[in-house]
Amino acid sequence: MSDAPLPAEGRPPAFTYRRARKGISSRATPVLCCDDVPLPALVERFGTPLYVYSASTIRKRFKAFDRAFRGIPHTICYSVKANSNLAILRLLRKLGCGFDIVSGGELERVLAVDSRAAKQVVFSGVGKTALEMRSALHAGILLFNVESESELQRLAECAGRLKKKARIAVRVNPDVPADTHAYISTGLRQHKFGIPINHARALYAHASAMHHLTIAGVSVHIGSQVTSVEPFAATMERVAELVCELRSEGHRIDYVDAGGGLGIDYDSTNETSFFEQVELYARALVRPLRGLEVRLLLEPGRAIVGPAGALVTSITYKKENSGKRFLVTDAAMNDLVRPSLYDAYHEIIPVNANTEQQYEIFDVVGPICETGDFFAHDRRMREPAEGDLLAILDSGAYGMSLASNYNSRPRAAEVLVDGKSLKLIRKRESTGDLFRLENI
Ligand code: PLP
Repeated sequence: MSDAPLPAEGRPPAFTYRRARKGISSRATPVLCCDDVPLPALVERFGTPLYVYSASTIRKRFKAFDRAFRGIPHTICYSVKANSNLAILRLLRKLGCGFDIVSGGELERVLAVDSRAAKQVVFSGVGKTALEMRSALHAGILLFNVESESELQRLAECAGRLKKKARIAVRVNPDVPADTHAYISTGLRQHKFGIPINHARALYAHASAMHHLTIAGVSVHIGSQVTSVEPFAATMERVAELVCELRSEGHRIDYVDAGGGLGIDYDSTNETSFFEQVELYARALVRPLRGLEVRLLLEPGRAIVGPAGALVTSITYKKENSGKRFLVTDAAMNDLVRPSLYDAYHEIIPVNANTEQQYEIFDVVGPICETGDFFAHDRRMREPAEGDLLAILDSGAYGMSLASNYNSRPRAAEVLVDGKSLKLIRKRESTGDLFRLENI
């Protein structure tokens, strides 16, 4: 393979076009590769729809994140919900990563990868059950991010019964707009998340009287796919002020958990590269905390794995209805729900660069019986043929982890590529898998 241009300027090079080997015609059609592996070779082995991830890109992005925070003691707790495949968790664990979990299931995934990872696990979420709390206490996690007075009480009871102490941070709601889709904005006062920041001191006072709780930090998370750093800076100003107040009231605050949320450049419009953006983000978070001597916990998900993954799909049919042209793919909203759920944009590119075809306007849609089953509306792209492969880029985060079996569709297979090597990290589900748990 010889080097060839990136599909989009400035996009981190997880997926690049390359020409076929020397010896074959130098004019061969460039083909999309993940690291060094051509996608058609993966499709031949594993079929479509297929999730493909680049291990080297995940590593690169994790390391960039880590480097950006070199000026402050910190732990990166990857947000498992973004992509919870065990192989990806293991890859990150090997880099020294901790984890942000929101359920007992995610805890089990983390422990399956490394039973010693618990000491770098933070547990967020508004609805932790007593069962989940007990599992996390048994495992000995680092921190519970508590989101209500009732939860505080429940956790104290669980810890008491197990004769353990639970380390806690109160997740505060800073009432800061995050400038993202309403469904993934979490830091406004009307949202279900956290405790209003001006009520937090009372809750800390309450917690300090509870024998089985140890106050250890303050936590916050304002939303996901936040592309400007200002909301993070405004949030940290408020959190830093609270840390000072809590300390003056005698509480020990060792950790600030800044949550996740740093957005990615789905439509390639940002002039700042990820590597510059993560440095700006780090500066925005760290500046307000200067002099406080806390350990910063970070919960990135999307920014680490999003651009490292693509969903590869084949065009089943082309059709035209009253002048509107459709590409019907074999992937659907059950495989990647982000366009349907958030009206999210994903770049869609051909696997074989068909530079000879004219540009046309298409809706790219799945086979599911909902008009909401689409990947793109009115997208300008070179006219493909039935059977051609498309890659839906930036699908590494909230792709497979949000996938379902709607319309009794087995979920896609997942492959992790690392340079020249590859591994099937999740088999394609069979229809039998779908009704294995059902009784007639
Ligand atoms: N932390 C918490 C508490 C979350 O709810 C989320 C996702 O919404 C994240 C971290 C990860 O966010 P992102 O993937 O945008 O970094």
